[in-house]
Order: sequence, then C-alpha cells, then structure tokens
Amino acid sequence: MKDNNVRSRLWHYTIDPREIYHHLPDNEIAHHAGNEEGNTYGIGIELCFNKDGNFDKIFDNSAKLVAYLLKFYNIDITAIKTHHDFTGKDCPNNI
Ligand SMILES: [Zn+2]
Repeated sequence: MKDNNVRSRLWHYTIDPREIYHHLPDNEIAHHAGNEEGNTYGIGIELCFNKDGNFDKIFDNSAKLVAYLLKFYNIDITAIKTHHDFTGKDCPNNI
C-alpha cells in the first residue's frame, strides 16, 4: 500500500493508551530528532498524550516498546535519547 501521509514518515512508532503503531521501518530515516545524527541513527517514538488520557498506560506501552527494541538490537539503556538530547527542546516534558 502506498503511503501518502507525510506525517507518518516523521517518526517510526506512535504510542497511545491502547496500541503501538509501527508506521515506518526502523531502518528508514525519519525526521524526528531535529538534527542529522538523531534522524540518521535514531528510532523515533511519539507519545500521543492528551490531558485527559491515560498517561500511565502510554508510559507502560512506551517502556515495553523500548525494552523490546533494546533487546532486539542488542543495545543498552544508554542508547535511549530524548528530543531534548539533540535540540535542547523541552521534550518530552511529561517524563
Ligand atoms: Zn519531541
């Protein structure tokens, strides 16, 4: 299926309280980090959070996905970076 949704290529995974969506292969470059290093070598995960949403469930889903990816790629926890690490942006500001 051809994907014409540009936003779906800005990062790799989107997480909400119910599901984890994998909409871009991990080995494709996305434009999520705000700099070339993060975009080229990083896997972008977007947390879809609303003020009335279940943040604990989103956090739990995120932890499961990150744990899976660390194990799958055999990398350690120091590989986890935030948007802030690349640009100084206050993101994520809920974690
Ligand atoms: Zn961000």
